[in-house]
Amino acid sequence: MTTDISSSRGFEALGLHPSIVAAATALGYEEPTPIQAASIPVLLEGRDVLGQAATGTGKTAAFALPLLHRIAASREGERRVRAFVLVPTRELAMQVAEAVHKYGRELHASVLPIYGGQSMQQQLRALRRGVDVVVATPGRALDHLNRGTLDLSGVEYLVLDEADEMLDMGFAEDLEALAAALPTERQTALFSATLSPRIKALTKKYLREPVNVQIAAEAPAAGKAARVREVAYVVQRPYKAAALARLLDMEDPTSAIVFCRTRTEVDELTETLGARGYQAEALHGGLSQEQRDRVLRRFRENTSEILVATDVAARGLDIEHVSHVFNYDVPSSIDAYVHRVGRTGRAGREGAALTLAEPREQRLLQNIERVAKRKIRMESIPTLTDLRERRLAMTRTAVEDALREGEPGKYRTLVEALATEHDLVEIAAAAIKLAEQGRADGEREEVEIPTARIAPAAPKHERDRKAPRARGGGDGDVAKIYIGLGRSAGIRPADLVGAIANEGGISSNAIGAIDIADRFSLVEVPAADANRIIAALRNTMVRGKPLRPRRDRM
Ligand code: AMP
Repeated sequence: MTTDISSSRGFEALGLHPSIVAAATALGYEEPTPIQAASIPVLLEGRDVLGQAATGTGKTAAFALPLLHRIAASREGERRVRAFVLVPTRELAMQVAEAVHKYGRELHASVLPIYGGQSMQQQLRALRRGVDVVVATPGRALDHLNRGTLDLSGVEYLVLDEADEMLDMGFAEDLEALAAALPTERQTALFSATLSPRIKALTKKYLREPVNVQIAAEAPAAGKAARVREVAYVVQRPYKAAALARLLDMEDPTSAIVFCRTRTEVDELTETLGARGYQAEALHGGLSQEQRDRVLRRFRENTSEILVATDVAARGLDIEHVSHVFNYDVPSSIDAYVHRVGRTGRAGREGAALTLAEPREQRLLQNIERVAKRKIRMESIPTLTDLRERRLAMTRTAVEDALREGEPGKYRTLVEALATEHDLVEIAAAAIKLAEQGRADGEREEVEIPTARIAPAAPKHERDRKAPRARGGGDGDVAKIYIGLGRSAGIRPADLVGAIANEGGISSNAIGAIDIADRFSLVEVPAADANRIIAALRNTMVRGKPLRPRRDRM
């Protein structure tokens, strides 16, 4: 059986426990994504699901909300592992555990991530205390199983997340061993970006009469061929706001809509943009009719130039045309992409649709490109040099316009006076310099945005541990350094760049992707420098705490 995805009902209508609905609302989710609308009711019925969904579609909540619903529906005295989620990587284990924790906060559901590289003692203590949900990488889960420290005999709900990646990473045997320790009476959900024959075989082995849920493979009806320039940029999450600002400066849109996934993100981004000096207004489902009308009026009258909106809020918006659509996130469905982009390039006019994609969302983007039959060009975020060149070009146009308009006499007198002592070209250059400075003064904080790796066009499974990343700056092998401090210690990318560049003695351009998780961070550096940097960082404190650096193993 295949379920069609068309519903846009709210979370309440899906039949979820009120506290779970409340958690989704508190996170700023306005409606279920298509994969959620299709999977959640089926999972709540107790059926197995085979879901085809890439990162960015909202698949984590698609399996996590029903899992929590089950825990909420029948609370038991003693804690045992009732839900077991397997994921391919340590990063994903952390992410999924964090998501489950957020969605289940009000239920007091306890969740434990288990992955290699983390202290075994810590995991043992937590397991002994009892947890409801374990999110694990297969290798480490098997370690625990073999030592008798992980009891899977009470598992009611199994999730295989990113199953294709797990197979690619050679976890098939581990999965088998783990499955043997699980009760046969259980519910299983398997999510995979691809449905290869190997995935189908896996499904046959572990799922029972699963319902297939996939994002509709039909392209939404294409409108008139619009002249829209579609470009995507791969950016690490911490640099997204800076990247958007850079694009806004480069593109200088006359009117733009920036789309975000959640209310929370709309509010935060509007504030960030405001602080950077842009005229941005938020539009989301949390506004009263009056507020909404006011925001729209200001946008139409051009008092504000940027509208930051959720998909829901922008639906049915009677704004005829905008020069630019920015996707702050890759939209969670093809439909949403087509609708968003349809806001520009109307009535044969030119438009631009620019998308920021996190490295993990590239596959979703490729899907959209393929299914919606779009050509989305991958580009690097313009550098500071590009921006300066662009500003010079803008100044040049402004000067040419002023010349065309004819120069007012009072300036002429001033120039003639100056010309008695200085060369005319020198005078003009000095005037342009002043004009440029005036422009730059109004500009915001400018940071270098690291180039993220752009994946090859053909979807390919590769993992960092298999393929060293090629970096923008210089090619060659890249190593990851694990730093024992993360967001909860107040660490920001700039702290790490500063420490590594200063103590490690390498140029900040040579530093690659930086991932900051709650309790640790990962930084890519040239492999040849890794040991030296680690040695130097051993004695370095950031925000009063030691960095505890080591090579990342996974
Ligand atoms: P995932 O595909 O599970 O990695 O989710 C991608 C992102 O979408 C995450 O940042 C989620 O917080 C967000 N997300 C998940 N469900 C929704 C929803 N219904 N509305 C808005 N954002 C969502």
